Amino acid sequence: MTIVTRFAPSPTGRLHVGNIRTALHNWMLARKSDGRFLLRIDDTDAERSREDYVDAIRADLAWLGIEPNGEERQSNRLAKYDAAFEGLRNAGRVYPCYETQQELELKRKIRLGRGLPPIYDRGALDLSEQDQAAKEAEGIAPHWRFKLDHDEQIAWQDGVRGPQRFDPAQLSDPVIRRADGSWLYMLPSAVDDLDMGVTDVLRGEDHVSNTAVQIQMFTALIAAQYPAQQTPRFAHEALLVGKEGKLSKRLGSLGCDAFRERGIEPAAIVALLARLGTSLPVEPIADRAALIDSFDLSTFGRAPAKFDEAELERVNTALVHEMEFAEVADRLPEGIDEAGWHAIRPNLSHVCEAAEWWRLVTGPIEQREFSEEDRAYLAEAAKLLEWGDDPWRALTARLKEATGRKGKPLFLPLRQALTGMDHGPDMSELLPLIGEERARSRLESPARG
Ligand code: GLU
Repeated sequence: MTIVTRFAPSPTGRLHVGNIRTALHNWMLARKSDGRFLLRIDDTDAERSREDYVDAIRADLAWLGIEPNGEERQSNRLAKYDAAFEGLRNAGRVYPCYETQQELELKRKIRLGRGLPPIYDRGALDLSEQDQAAKEAEGIAPHWRFKLDHDEQIAWQDGVRGPQRFDPAQLSDPVIRRADGSWLYMLPSAVDDLDMGVTDVLRGEDHVSNTAVQIQMFTALIAAQYPAQQTPRFAHEALLVGKEGKLSKRLGSLGCDAFRERGIEPAAIVALLARLGTSLPVEPIADRAALIDSFDLSTFGRAPAKFDEAELERVNTALVHEMEFAEVADRLPEGIDEAGWHAIRPNLSHVCEAAEWWRLVTGPIEQREFSEEDRAYLAEAAKLLEWGDDPWRALTARLKEATGRKGKPLFLPLRQALTGMDHGPDMSELLPLIGEERARSRLESPARG
């Protein structure tokens, strides 16, 4: 059976690191078994959904390299939900309710006051057809609830959490449709999962109680309309929290734009999020096939996954040091070639810093004040400079012999004169890039004063 997973964002905002992680894991789960990964835009909420967010979701996934095998939109599928609703209604699994928000709130408080769980009391089930007609005559349109079967215990084997059990009598019958006919999340999602042949639903643990309710919906929908389909498998991953272990507001607004601005590579986000919260080590792995190969729900822990921005930076730096020229060429300053990239790469945390380092080659550089002694030393260096295969090695060897200097006094003034800095790329790689003419002039300039 082909594995089918889906990522189902509501386009009411930008993706944040938590959604990105869910998308990534669903993509990896599908890719691991050559399955299909669908992007499903959950846009039944016409008022809050926005087209620019839909575009941004697509663009963010493309930037991350999380390519869907197909895309669906709930707003194009409303007829399916109507049909499913009618099927459930005929089967006696949905019922109209007329309570106002205030009435429901009051009922909730009363139940809490009596020490009862604050679930819906199913008051609407006691209404006769005349009662319902009277409400509608008053102009009150009903909202609709799905009727849980209290005799059917809910259980599933969760891919992360293990065996799960829920007593339906302890759950509220969920509202699935508003009085204006619009849909809440629960039913359209179950209809789509069946209709699209989704085999695995992998999402955050904030959806566990939705799953409990949806399991009965799946069973009812299969019986009424989808006899050839099966209830998907479920897995709920622990939530992502900040480094301090708290659900942080910051994480909720941290998305691809912020990462891009900070020069974080998509590969770093993928490498970190692929393994965060699992028993596998977070490593700077650029090879997605290797990450996918090692992806395994059984390695996921139950404790919240801690997202640490410093860890992301570390992974990013390590990946940048391994990146090939071809991968970054279009983002490098003009003139920098493969040798230039290789010389500079070990000094970068972010590719965008290449420009700063490349200025050491092209200049202008700012030299420090040198001591009298060093000025003489550098003038000597300018004289001994000879261009060949490895000018740095040749120069330092000749200077060592001529001046008796070694170690830091031998190397540091040269680096300082040639680059204006105390540290930086390997000089034997850098000097050929600086070139003979520029090198000679930089060595001569301190003596000129
Ligand atoms: N649109 C839902 C959400 O963003 C989808 C949840 C699901 O994966 O079923 O929470």
